[in-house]
Amino acid sequence: GREMTYIQKPSAYHPALKRNALGLTRRDYEGSMSTLCAGCGHDSITAAIIEACFELDLPAHRIAKVSGIGCSSKAPTYFLGRSHGFNSVHGRMPSVTTGANLANRDLVYIGVSGDGDTASIGLGQFAHAVRRRLNMVYIVMNNGCYGLTKGQFSATNDKTSPSKKGEPNPFDPIDLCQMAIQLGAGFVARSFSGDKRQLIPLIKAAISYRGFAFLDVISPCVTFNNHPASTKSYDYVRQHNQAIDKLDFVPEEQEITADYDEGTSVPVTLHDGSRIILHKLDQSHDPRDADAALMTIRKHAARGEVATGLLYIDESQHDLHDILRTSERPLNAVPMSELCPGSEKLASINARLQ
Ligand code: SF4
Ligand code: MG
Repeated sequence: GREMTYIQKPSAYHPALKRNALGLTRRDYEGSMSTLCAGCGHDSITAAIIEACFELDLPAHRIAKVSGIGCSSKAPTYFLGRSHGFNSVHGRMPSVTTGANLANRDLVYIGVSGDGDTASIGLGQFAHAVRRRLNMVYIVMNNGCYGLTKGQFSATNDKTSPSKKGEPNPFDPIDLCQMAIQLGAGFVARSFSGDKRQLIPLIKAAISYRGFAFLDVISPCVTFNNHPASTKSYDYVRQHNQAIDKLDFVPEEQEITADYDEGTSVPVTLHDGSRIILHKLDQSHDPRDADAALMTIRKHAARGEVATGLLYIDESQHDLHDILRTSERPLNAVPMSELCPGSEKLASINARLQ
């Protein structure tokens, strides 16, 4: 674990850097210098988030990044330095995001959490954010341990995976993707911090998805859980990574140019008109069938493999705003006369309760 320090990066950059539709470079999507250990998977996920937001031409003021506590939850400091941000307390990222989201539906919410933050202290909060179909991207940077407090086992660590010093892990892991599917998440994916070709399109699709988008990213902790017996190490995940699909993300305004075979590819259109073309690598896997998705995860896990890719999608999910029929406008844009219905209305509500 490292203490909190904020080192600004130099703001000058080369004029020839590639620019997106907003005229911005990748550098404009960066944050402060990372103080995580060199080689930590979380820095690769940070880089993938930066790339995804750059490629989606997202303006910084439309993004809110929210996190809890842990090495993972420090990561938002290292991306999107010009966006809104809230580093909350341990396990409380979902409720803080729920409040912000209900007040302002116009922002893209990127929640960052860890396996400690989500699978233990924050498990109840996680469950209810999923159940309520909060429109957000929820990323777990999953290393099977509490990196910030010296590497204790977390609830996602495999039973077969001992500590660095050889101490056995007595408990079975919580599989957050299985939980998310069972609780009603409409977009559930698993990936690996070392596979940016898979991770970047998944993040772009998750941001474009309206509803609860969950991304469990195996992200090795080089300091405490990257030893030869660990199942969350770079070597183990590289050797046991079974991609179930290959995903192309196609923005709304772009034509689908890649050839795809109807039989083995699944085209999915999202609410905003963008499309995902899923090239199925595992033919028995159907990403629109929750039972099949659970079977796929379990089948691979039983063989000691990690199934990665877009595991499940329900493209017609209704999000929390649809369900509660909330204001179309962010609350800060609603005039006081509408926000406050007045004392007569209040008296009539009170009368109904007597
Ligand atoms: Fe934290 Fe481990 Fe990453 Fe170091 S390598 S920053 S201890 S998660
Ligand atoms: Mg962790």
